[in-house]
Amino acid sequence: MAAARAWPSAELPGESWGVSAKRSLVELANLHPWIGVQSQPFSELVNQLATVERLIDVLRWAESAEFNTVLACHPTTSGGDHDLVARRGDGSLGVFEVSDVAGDPGNANQKMTSDLGLLINCTCPYCDDGAAKYVATSRVSGDWLSRLVPRLGRMEALGVAGLLPVAETESGTVITQLNHCRGRGTEAPGRGAEVSAVGDLGRLLQPGSVQST
Ligand SMILES: [Zn+2]
Repeated sequence: MAAARAWPSAELPGESWGVSAKRSLVELANLHPWIGVQSQPFSELVNQLATVERLIDVLRWAESAEFNTVLACHPTTSGGDHDLVARRGDGSLGVFEVSDVAGDPGNANQKMTSDLGLLINCTCPYCDDGAAKYVATSRVSGDWLSRLVPRLGRMEALGVAGLLPVAETESGTVITQLNHCRGRGTEAPGRGAEVSAVGDLGRLLQPGSVQST
């Protein structure tokens, strides 16, 4: 982050600031051994940091919800693995995806719709094993998800039976649990499995309150 703050944007040519800034590399220093690159394009770095910041919110909430083991964590890879896979002491699993869509109305370029579809239809070993599915979004996208719930036809087309907001953090990350339509995979264990498409909307927690399910 310090390297990104020191990024010399003023040195970019004014007439091609946009195309130059998009590609201009930020040199990274004092890297953690797990980081395998020495530089990254500025725009990519911003996207990755936004995802990681939301993921930190997710990890804090997951711990409060009694997830105590991280099985996989791939926040900056696109496709394939989930951003986070965690397990509770009783063996129940949770998979988490960060979907940080910028701008109104929370579903720019249909990205939320696409991310929901990928998550609900995922057949990875964790999902096949009945993992509860969660998506972490901005407050704006969380509101968009809430508005999706009464649109039953749209929900059904996506294969989503229910969307349950389980937390909203102080920094504005909304964590929403997804439930499958019957016959479209394993329903999430625990309380979330009872959630109907139109129920529980009023239970969106207040900013700052992080609560376990
Ligand atoms: Zn999966």
